[in-house]
Amino acid sequence: MALASGVHVSDEEKLQILRRLDQFRHWHSLDDKRYCLVCGKIITGHQIQLMGGTRGNGPLRMICPMEGCHSIPMDWVLPTDEILAKVEMMAGEERKAPVSSSADRGGSGHRIASSAQIRSPSQASFLKA
Ligand SMILES: [Zn+2]
Repeated sequence: MALASGVHVSDEEKLQILRRLDQFRHWHSLDDKRYCLVCGKIITGHQIQLMGGTRGNGPLRMICPMEGCHSIPMDWVLPTDEILAKVEMMAGEERKAPVSSSADRGGSGHRIASSAQIRSPSQASFLKA
């Protein structure tokens, strides 16, 4: 799994790292959006993946979160209205394609309810008695 080598930091730390590594454009917050010239997607600071060197303490680098895209900060530009309109149009095209993810939704509500029952105080006292 590619995620295994990812680096997990707090939002504040991530913003600091973004500002340090992206010397081309200023990051105001992790909500800032960038347009990736390589894969043509809009990405946010939250989505950007931090990668560490060997053993996690090597030089940090940032890569595009999109699968198969390994662009670097230099490839990320501030999205202009023109770019946003274009991306929106492409997203609309994708939405027309059949989606099969509806099966993933639903059913989770029941699972949350049953786990809440197990954690109820009456259950705990029953186990003690
Ligand atoms: Zn990309």
